[in-house]
Amino acid sequence: MKYIDEFRQRDVAQQLAGAIAQTVDPARHYRLMEFCGGHTHAIFRYGVQDLMPANVEFIHGPGCPVCVLPTGRIDNAIQLVREHEVILCTYADLMRVPASERQSLIKAKAAGGDIRMVYSTQDALNIARDNPDRQVVFFAIGFETTTPPTAVAVKQAQAEGLKNFSVFCNHVLTPAAMQAILNAPEPVQIDGFLGPSHVSSVIGSRPYETFAEQYAKPIVIAGFEPLDVMQSALMLIRQLNAGRRQVENEYSRAVTRDGNSKAQALVAEVLELRPQFEWRGLGLIPDSALRIKPQYAEFDAERRFAMPAIKASDVKGCECPAILRGAKKPQDCKLLGTVCTPENPMGSCMVSSEGACAAYWSYGRVRNHSAGKSPNGLALSN
Ligand code: SF4
Repeated sequence: MKYIDEFRQRDVAQQLAGAIAQTVDPARHYRLMEFCGGHTHAIFRYGVQDLMPANVEFIHGPGCPVCVLPTGRIDNAIQLVREHEVILCTYADLMRVPASERQSLIKAKAAGGDIRMVYSTQDALNIARDNPDRQVVFFAIGFETTTPPTAVAVKQAQAEGLKNFSVFCNHVLTPAAMQAILNAPEPVQIDGFLGPSHVSSVIGSRPYETFAEQYAKPIVIAGFEPLDVMQSALMLIRQLNAGRRQVENEYSRAVTRDGNSKAQALVAEVLELRPQFEWRGLGLIPDSALRIKPQYAEFDAERRFAMPAIKASDVKGCECPAILRGAKKPQDCKLLGTVCTPENPMGSCMVSSEGACAAYWSYGRVRNHSAGKSPNGLALSN
């Protein structure tokens, strides 16, 4: 398949691995944070970490929207179903994320709550059209990639005069999260970032430029295929060796410097910055999330229903918060693969298809480690 097969070729991966081995300075350690969960999964699915020299380490970042959503927001969604009897439309990934008191959306559904899994905002709008006497709430999550469809849905609902549709908006922003990681009281040592690919196709590479300068950290916008990740790691290593701190774009087949101006304008019309938003693992971050603008208030579930802020804690022993900051890795969690599995997740990082714990579990890292074997090897095409 075009744009897929050529970025998974084994011989090219081996050439890149050779180039990286020749380029690294053996006297230093390279700590590269891949921001997105999509990168984390590519690294483990294709055995990319095993192709790196021992002094090149990937640090997993917070770029998994399900993972960073704090428990209180899931509690809010369950309240909407139980107390306001809404039809809640949500993506499947959110269904099994643990909420307070051992609850989750899937348990609330099993108990009779009207919670429906959707693939898009358009599905949610259709449910609202089909149920004019019920309130329908779309549980919107995601980084900048998923904000344009939410904005479209709100505008469509307004144009159609839909009185029973609203959005519980939990969209979060990438550059603010990167800043929060580096501004943390005990910052994790990170030498450079593999920047988001899909997010950057919307916002462009320009927003990272001041950030790279201010924090003196190189950033390479990286595609999600294994060769993208390896090429981006090589670009970061070259920058670090040369003492450069720039934004480079490996994913030039989809990302430009200015991004998608149409999508940006649409989002700016419907959504605005929240003064602050709580992230799992990163705490309250100023200007890090979006809410619906006052002129579209009738489509804002937080204004339509009483939704008090809920302060909730994570499951005891779950290391998701530290993993999302890059301070720990899934194997540092004692619950990984014992108490916590995809069938019985204790934290969001095991539930989401972009979560780091799910990546470790899915691609054999947990089982191979516990059996004393090396992790899965190269899974690329010839
Ligand atoms: S393995 Fe489970 S309990 Fe441990 S950090 Fe990951 S999600 Fe949390």
